[in-house]
Amino acid sequence: MTVPAGARLVLATHNAHKVAELRAILGAALPDLPDGAVVGAADVGAPEPVEDGVTFEQNALIKARALAAATGLPAVADDSGLAVDVLGGSPGIFSARWAGRHGDDAANLALLLAQLADVRPEHRAARFVCAAALVVPPGAPGVAAEAAAGLEHVATGALEGTLAEVPRGSYGFGYDPLLVPLGGSRTCAELTPDEKNAISHRGAAFRALAPVVARVLAGPAAEGA
Ligand code: IMP
Repeated sequence: MTVPAGARLVLATHNAHKVAELRAILGAALPDLPDGAVVGAADVGAPEPVEDGVTFEQNALIKARALAAATGLPAVADDSGLAVDVLGGSPGIFSARWAGRHGDDAANLALLLAQLADVRPEHRAARFVCAAALVVPPGAPGVAAEAAAGLEHVATGALEGTLAEVPRGSYGFGYDPLLVPLGGSRTCAELTPDEKNAISHRGAAFRALAPVVARVLAGPAAEGA
């Protein structure tokens, strides 16, 4: 595993879109952050840990802790899914493998629709939920004094909505064709990527985490200023 020169923060995802999204959100919170300071797990070749937590928060922390320990750098990880009220918050952490096979979006969506077949519109409340975790390992280089001995922080975000009875739209992934965000009539898969990003659970969690990341990465020199 090699950590690129200039890396200050590593993001526990192999998804280039998520890396770009966090860079953009952090860029707004920390405009002086140089290009190349935020790198993805793929850039460092880090192994993926077993996600055996039972909440989004625990799984986000598991991923961030593993990456922070492997790289010695502050690490951010997220974990997300769909929580349906009438199913007691399921699929929840099992969202990616609700129908049994990890990442089979079509089967997951078909099973959820079948489970809710007799549930009337007023009882179809649901939300996308995201937990974003920052883990700073003890002794990480160039971090603020408050994080020098190590620090963990978790922020969450949600996108509230109701579930449509028939999937609609072709953007996005996962359960996007079913969730209609509150206040609108289109499903997430009928929103453009920009429209979805502006209201997404992931964006909300990352924006809530960004000031803490900014404070940590501002470094010891910035603190007396
Ligand atoms: P991940 O933690 O971001 O990989 O998400 C886990 C699973 O939750 C995905 O495989 C999807 O089934 C579901 N999910 C999370 N976020 C979204 C979203 O924004 N749209 C649709 N499905 C999502």
